[in-house]
Amino acid sequence: MRATPPNIAVLGAGLAGCTLALELEKAGAHVYLFHDGSTTSSSDVAAGLINPIVPKGVRMTWQWERMFPNWLRYYREWELVLQTPFIDSHELIQLHLHPDHYQEWETKSQEQPQSQFIGHTQQEIPAHSRALYSHAVGLSGRLDVQAFCHATRSHFAKKGQLHDQRWEPQTGPPFTLPLGQPVSHVVYCQGIQLLQNPLWNWLPMHPTGGDILTVSIPSAALLPMAIWKSKQWLVPLKRLANNSEPMWLLGSNFHKGDLSTETRIEDAESLLDETEAWLGVRPHLLEHRRAVRPTVGSRRPYLGQHPQLANRWIFNGLGSKGSALASWLAPLMAQHLIEGCELPKEVNIERHWQEQP
Ligand SMILES: Cc1cc2nc3c(=O)[nH]c(=O)nc-3n(C[C@H](O)[C@H](O)[C@H](O)COP(=O)(O)OP(=O)(O)OC[C@H]3O[C@@H](n4cnc5c(N)ncnc54)[C@H](O)[C@@H]3O)c2cc1C
Repeated sequence: MRATPPNIAVLGAGLAGCTLALELEKAGAHVYLFHDGSTTSSSDVAAGLINPIVPKGVRMTWQWERMFPNWLRYYREWELVLQTPFIDSHELIQLHLHPDHYQEWETKSQEQPQSQFIGHTQQEIPAHSRALYSHAVGLSGRLDVQAFCHATRSHFAKKGQLHDQRWEPQTGPPFTLPLGQPVSHVVYCQGIQLLQNPLWNWLPMHPTGGDILTVSIPSAALLPMAIWKSKQWLVPLKRLANNSEPMWLLGSNFHKGDLSTETRIEDAESLLDETEAWLGVRPHLLEHRRAVRPTVGSRRPYLGQHPQLANRWIFNGLGSKGSALASWLAPLMAQHLIEGCELPKEVNIERHWQEQP
């Protein structure tokens, strides 16, 4: 006889909650996804860039081998299930304004493992740009995080398993959902709101605010459709109509410890000034948004079980590389919860259990 599938509540329908809810369902659980209708969460604003190279030192990102061979296939599978496109596989082109910068990349591009990812591109450097040289970065791209989360919420809504509300369970198991359904486990995927939750706020967080602009670029610049990266990046968005100007996402910056989601004109101006300095054309600002990344100082996310409350779990701390990390960690978290599979030590919150008051 098959065991009854566990009922699991996932609190928070950002990137962490959505990837985990899908994985838990795939593993046979009955999932209730809670979405509080946020519009300024990290996932509501993120650009979703996926780039295996850390610019400082032209190094590979942590655990690249677990994420980069698979991320595209991972999200393509969910595109099929959810019947919504949310992956852009534009080439990412790193521009170099100085010969030394180019030389550093060129040297690294001949070392392992970077040589698997860094190469030359056929794309011409944009006409007005001050860049002298470029490199292409392979296996990079973009997850449209907002489209992915929207499609995931719709998937659960159609089955009556999306709760459009906040939920803070006060009692212990068995938990009863607002509509009376019993659940055996609760997973907290609250992003930066972990800071207000006494169950979890002993886990150290180092929130980092960031701005993203939607811009148009005067057609004289005629940028080929690629992800262009210098100090900032420009990501092409789909055109609304054939005759409309192409729109781009422009970002980003890092405001350490700043929890504000209010935009400030000086931050937009500074991004526009810095981009104009390498692009040679000033982008035209259409929209400005700001949010706070759920960043952990050690850059190692938080996965696992509460030290005292066995039915409460966490999946958080995806930081500035959430799109790639979620493709690796959401399946591991689901297998850990459902089948008891071990989590990698670096991400298991057991490493912080002694810090709980
Ligand atoms: C400016 C900026 C640029 C970024 N760019 C990139 C990028 O290019 N590439 C990349 O990979 N990552 C990027 N990120 C990071 C990425 O956004 C995050 O890693 C990821 O979105 C975090 O997702 P999350 O689900 O953990 O948190 P969140 O997105 O914060 O989602 C948590 C959700 O839970 C809700 N919630 C909290 N408590 C409850 C409750 N009790 N009940 C119901 N709901 C609740 C919150 O309101 C929120 O909707 C960027 C982030 C920012 C801010």
